Amino acid sequence: MCGIIGITSLPNNLREPIGKVVRRCLEKLEYRGYDSVGIAVIKGNYIEVRKGKGKIAEVSVRLNFDEVNGTSAIGHTRWATHGKPSDENAHPHTDCSGNVAVVHNGIISNFLELKEELIREGHVFKSETDTEVVAHLIEEYLRLGYKPFDAFKAALSRLKGAYAFVVIIAQEPNRLYFARNTSPLVIGIGNGANFIASDIPAFLEFTNTVIVLRDGEYGYIEPGKVYIEKDGVPINVEERVRLISWTPEMASKEGYPHFMLKEIHEQPFAISSTLAGINEGEFDNVINLLLNSRKVLIIGAGTSYHAGLVSDYLLTSMLGLDTHTIISSEYKKYVNAINDNDTVIAISQSGETIDTLVAVRAFKERGAKVVAVSNVIDSAIPRESNYVLYTRAGPEIGVAATKTFTTQLVILTILALRLVLPWVSWAKVSIGISWTPSIRYRESFKTL
Ligand code: GLU
Repeated sequence: MCGIIGITSLPNNLREPIGKVVRRCLEKLEYRGYDSVGIAVIKGNYIEVRKGKGKIAEVSVRLNFDEVNGTSAIGHTRWATHGKPSDENAHPHTDCSGNVAVVHNGIISNFLELKEELIREGHVFKSETDTEVVAHLIEEYLRLGYKPFDAFKAALSRLKGAYAFVVIIAQEPNRLYFARNTSPLVIGIGNGANFIASDIPAFLEFTNTVIVLRDGEYGYIEPGKVYIEKDGVPINVEERVRLISWTPEMASKEGYPHFMLKEIHEQPFAISSTLAGINEGEFDNVINLLLNSRKVLIIGAGTSYHAGLVSDYLLTSMLGLDTHTIISSEYKKYVNAINDNDTVIAISQSGETIDTLVAVRAFKERGAKVVAVSNVIDSAIPRESNYVLYTRAGPEIGVAATKTFTTQLVILTILALRLVLPWVSWAKVSIGISWTPSIRYRESFKTL
């Protein structure tokens, strides 16, 4: 897992170097990877790259990210899959000329054959990563006379695997190309600047207007413009814009020494929001589905799997449903036992957990109905599921799940209670839980 950020320009009213803005955005993505970090900034007609092994706090000071000025910029915080953590393997990666820079989250499974082909064409590689082939592929198509967007698309058509990319090309100083296939990518529409990142908290300081990209989509952003395509067909961007209720404070430490402690103290607020946001109609649909299911399979990874175990216990002990919980990555052992009489409950905080997404697709192919439990609106798993129960915990930046786990338990417990006490309106119950004490409770801990 890695964190990606791209910025088309400086947001209005901001008078600081773009390198400093990228550094701040990367700090919100550090939970996604922290073995190395880097930025690339377009300055006039060339790209400056600063990158190195180590954590953001250390590398950004050593390489002085905060002083780098330029038009557009990309940044990356890495968790290595191909090539050890090192200065050379840190992203962004560039082509031979240094005119193309790429940040990537995911794995390019056919990179070795592409690398051999490119080396035969005379390209010189500087890293051991799978990512670097993308920069050289684009360079190759540019050399053949393709226009930049066509070169980007031609390079994409050669790739196999899971990826989210952001690419800058020196000759187009305000344009950032992107593509998504399995790894998450979200566009942020800001004031004077557009953003693209692996996760919303990266740019929440600047905007809460977002477009969650879907698999197979690619395109570009410029200041004031978003262009998305899939299979050569332009997407209606306006229809995809969502306003999220998260605030910039939610993605800042607000005086706490670290995000995890802040998020622990946000639990009362997160629970109140989750209860208040309950969609009664969707709950009714899910309950009907569960009552008419032969089996209920609960899937999740990490902490979400543990929320699943609690829910499994409640659904079996209180209601006698035939439930079973598995770690998402083990779905292959169960897929043949599932059919269209069954329901799968897929739990994922981000709604983008790859193992869970892959399992959801496999179970849907078997005809099962899927209920997603997620904290991120319009993310991949909710979108691909038949029903969604949202938790409303706000962004979680701490690596260990806290408030999102609690809200998963809340929503899943209410689901079980709704099955035994169908007449209770849980959205109304939430009104009885005062928000004020929870905020006061949260404030009182800030001094700890
Ligand atoms: N495969 C890339 C690398 O190793 C990206 C890693 C990731 O997304 O986790 O640099």
